[in-house]
Amino acid sequence: MGYDYNMMLKDCDSLAKKFCFVDLFCIGESVMEKKIECIKIGNGDKKLFINGAHHGLEYLTSAFILKFLGDYAGAYNNKSEFFDYDVLKLYNKVTIYAVPMVNPDGVDIAVNGIDITNPYHRKLISMVGIHSFNKVWQANANGVDINHNYDAGWRVVKEYPSPTGYAGPYSESEPETKAVIELVKKENFDMLIAFHSQGGEIYYDFDGKMSKDSIRIANCMSDVSGYRATVAEGTAAYGGCKDWFIKEFGKAGFTVEIGHGKNPLPDDMLNIIYEENSKIILCAMEQM
Ligand SMILES: [Zn+2]
Repeated sequence: MGYDYNMMLKDCDSLAKKFCFVDLFCIGESVMEKKIECIKIGNGDKKLFINGAHHGLEYLTSAFILKFLGDYAGAYNNKSEFFDYDVLKLYNKVTIYAVPMVNPDGVDIAVNGIDITNPYHRKLISMVGIHSFNKVWQANANGVDINHNYDAGWRVVKEYPSPTGYAGPYSESEPETKAVIELVKKENFDMLIAFHSQGGEIYYDFDGKMSKDSIRIANCMSDVSGYRATVAEGTAAYGGCKDWFIKEFGKAGFTVEIGHGKNPLPDDMLNIIYEENSKIILCAMEQM
């Protein structure tokens, strides 16, 4: 099946319709002109930015974020607790901005493939070769890996557009990257959590520039989830969203690799990853 762009849109719309205190707005458009949606919930001075699906095969992160936001909003509405956290207190302390699907084209290519009538068909088919999209596609519709496209140690890893790992012709070349950067600069977030899959890990630093609170918060996230707090190495260590956030603002930024297995993670793994990652967000909010 796979949680594609239309399913995400539908969930965003019903969330905003169900709860009058949920705001839904668009932060930009993808290469194929899909609207990149953002959900805002909360009434606090502290601002937390969470995002998912920088990578096509990692759409379970989008499904998780929507489920989390729906249940968090429901708990606030019912004045009930949520995994033993005081939601009313968190709601009045922290405002959450969530972009559940940064790379909507990439997710749709990974989930649904690409129709022969689509103008990008030939170009994208030539990039995957003998492989199928639902095994390899992580990039956007230009074949750029958005999580290597940020201006944080940006470098050439591959020479040409590819299903994964091509950083683009230069940093911030892609509309999806620009949309995220513009939102972050405008809203001046206190903390960022970028959800990826998979590995059960929490990355908290970039180039030694993390905030003084980062290790404490990462350890707290690790305690509630069982994930391992660590520092990224190799190609995962630069050009990413949290790397840029830490480099640019010196604030607490995290990459959380949800679940274990092989991408794309199966849909029913949402049940397993739901509690551990909900607690990661809630404990981070408490620590802010
Ligand atoms: Zn990823």
